[in-house]
Amino acid sequence: PVEINSLVKAFGAQVVLDGISLNVKAGEVLAIIGPSGSGKSTLLRCVNHLEKPTGGTIRVCGDYIGYRRKGNVLREIGGRELARQRARTGMVFQNFNLYSHKTALENIIESPVHVRGVDVKTAKARAHALLERVGLADRADAYPAQLSGGQQQRVAIARALAGEPEVMLFDEPTSALDPELVGEVLTVMREIAESGMTMIVVTHEIQFAHDVCNRVVFMADGKIVEEGAPGDVLDNPQAERTQAFLGRFN
Ligand code: ATP
Ligand code: MG
Repeated sequence: PVEINSLVKAFGAQVVLDGISLNVKAGEVLAIIGPSGSGKSTLLRCVNHLEKPTGGTIRVCGDYIGYRRKGNVLREIGGRELARQRARTGMVFQNFNLYSHKTALENIIESPVHVRGVDVKTAKARAHALLERVGLADRADAYPAQLSGGQQQRVAIARALAGEPEVMLFDEPTSALDPELVGEVLTVMREIAESGMTMIVVTHEIQFAHDVCNRVVFMADGKIVEEGAPGDVLDNPQAERTQAFLGRFN
């Protein structure tokens, strides 16, 4: 569902993504690891067009995200048309990004009701099912401030799933959590992976990448340095930079 070709992203003179090519197949669970500042978040943000690429192309489910193709010309799109493309991805951020004045349930139904026009009753029924799926069936009416970080992140995951995305994008979903809350979020992510969801996961959880992901990409300085099966990249890295990076976790 995701095809990234020679992607370049620059902020002014700073080249943050320097020719990234990467395909993620349906049902694949890809881990992206790499040092701070290597461009991991920027890459994810390009995939759902929160950032506009400087060069190269990104296709999600066949469409060039952010563009409509007319003959050989790509025209920029916005508004509802872009929103429809974006809805194919669900994004989960490090800091949950829930609406603080809305309950867990209200957070989850927001986009289905207001963006996709699902009727409230249907949206609520789905939201309850999603809350159950992330282990929060009894917290539908809680506000974010009344939930732990791990619970908030599970609501955020349920909210992303409520958009019925083809691809889930996770940007260090457990980095802001107290250590004892990391496991409950990783468990939910593992279950989503096992359900066949296509996932791109930026993470420092090497064990999760090892056990759950099908493939690992190591990025540094805006480039893919090394990629392959978790057992290869993580247990037997070939590039010096990968070895140095992973050495920090041992
Ligand atoms: P981390 O592990 O710390 O989250 P990262 O790999 O996700 O790092 P990015 O957030 O993608 O890295 O940032 C890559 C580089 O791009 C950094 O040098 C950052 O300062 C720069 N950058 C990111 N967003 C912007 C922006 N909106 N404007 C200018 N520079 C930016
Ligand atoms: Mg980041």
